[in-house]
Amino acid sequence: MKKKGNIYVTEPSLPDLEEYTELLKTIWESKQITNNGELHKRFEQELQQYLNVKHISLFSNGTLALMTALKALRITGEVITTPYSFVATTHSLHWNGIKPVFCDINPHDGNINPDKIEALITPQTTAIMPVHVYGNPCDNEKIQRIADVYGLKIIYDAAHAFGVEKGNESILNWGDLSVLSFHATKTFNTVEGGAIVTKDEKLKKRLDYFKNFGFANETTVIGYGINAKMNELISAYGLLQLHDVDKNIILRKEKTQLYRQLLQNIKGIRLLDEMEDVRYNYTYFPVFIENKQFGKSRDSVYEELKQNGIYARRYFYPLISDFPAYRGLPSAQKEHLPEAGNMARQVLCLPLYADLENRSIERIVEIIRRNAETTK
Ligand SMILES: *Cc1c(COP(=O)(O)O)cnc(C)c1O
Repeated sequence: MKKKGNIYVTEPSLPDLEEYTELLKTIWESKQITNNGELHKRFEQELQQYLNVKHISLFSNGTLALMTALKALRITGEVITTPYSFVATTHSLHWNGIKPVFCDINPHDGNINPDKIEALITPQTTAIMPVHVYGNPCDNEKIQRIADVYGLKIIYDAAHAFGVEKGNESILNWGDLSVLSFHATKTFNTVEGGAIVTKDEKLKKRLDYFKNFGFANETTVIGYGINAKMNELISAYGLLQLHDVDKNIILRKEKTQLYRQLLQNIKGIRLLDEMEDVRYNYTYFPVFIENKQFGKSRDSVYEELKQNGIYARRYFYPLISDFPAYRGLPSAQKEHLPEAGNMARQVLCLPLYADLENRSIERIVEIIRRNAETTK
């Protein structure tokens, strides 16, 4: 249960209740509550324009979107992916009967290290599934080059990358497709929800069939479809959220800048650098606590914050490759994933959301600083 006065890692922004009620009235009048209704169509269209992408298909959540993406692209065998992510990335492979192959990451951005991908390719490899961790764009050029040479597909888990652009282009246009999550904890939320972005019109169509049991028309089922549709009530909510998302991203950016300014010069606290030509969405604020320099462990800082009613989160600890479901795989062994192991041991995501008060940020940093100083 959430307690008043406590500060959690995130807090959702909600649409205006009166505006939402007005939109709900149109649903009550039309009695169309799901199955590609008017609001669903409008939401797809407005999102496509906002994100500056070719095609988008809405889903009931990001995990079902990932699972459906793999099915629609007929991915089988082995897929090279990252252990430093939310567990749904790898689960989506397992639910398709695909063997995940874990690749180590870069310490500077938390993303899959493209230089380590090639050594993991086997005759069974059919795709690469990278994640833009914390909204940091992956090294798409290198990943695409490998995929082109070996004939692999690229499925981006872009759950953290809503609205992220590099050099004025949406990074959601990269690879064969990108999967978004609109879960309550993300910068852009529709309570639960997700979407797939693709440049390929035919693929967009197949995704639409697959999320609706595989129906291409009343009597044709084109494959093993599922029910992963977004309904009209959620589409209405999403349409309103779109009005506020830019304002929310700016607020998150200001909070991030305040954190950065206050945290500089604390020994043993490492922050990730921002790339110059990237428009970020500021979904997370991860700090990396280097035990030896800081003098205390990440977990003791985490506990100390908790005792003060501040609930930071260790995204992503444990690594996916350390969960019982995956730890038996050869690629899950610790010696193959040293950088991922380091980051998982050091990371702490501090609270960040549009309504977070500046004085809360000051308090959080003060607690961290106190921890650093008591050890001197
Ligand atoms: C949130 C998240 C998902 C899952 O999305 P849901 O909409 O919650 O199903 C998948 N991958 C990553 C990296 C995520 O952060």
